[in-house]
Amino acid sequence: MGSDCLFCRIVAGEIPATVVRETATTLAFRDIGPKAPVHVLVIPKEHYADVATLAQGDPALAGEVLATAAAVAEDEGLLGDGFRLMFNTGAYGGQEVFHVHAHLLGGAPLGPMLA
Ligand code: IMP
Repeated sequence: MGSDCLFCRIVAGEIPATVVRETATTLAFRDIGPKAPVHVLVIPKEHYADVATLAQGDPALAGEVLATAAAVAEDEGLLGDGFRLMFNTGAYGGQEVFHVHAHLLGGAPLGPMLA
């Protein structure tokens, strides 16, 4: 997608980000407005608008996003106490950046999702 997409620009190195893990196909970087002590976004480098489009278009790449998220969770020491992994999707899902990203949240009790 390129210059119109914020996260494509992060992948291209045009916008700085605090990268915590990079693979050939994925990138993980800290959220600029953290909602938990650990808040990392995990994206495929290739542009897909949302998780449904990614899962339908390239399920193997969707799996690589999950594997990177799990590796970051381990690096950040989240495996013992647990964490939340979520994809906001579309208008009702509250998605604001339309380059698919998993939010990895942890480091403190997050409470019930739908309280
Ligand atoms: P969404 O609502 O699921 O689309 O979440 C978008 C997320 O991107 C929000 O949590 C923002 O804080 C985060 N964000 C926006 N711009 C940047 C940035 O330049 N670097 C890192 N995170 C960002």
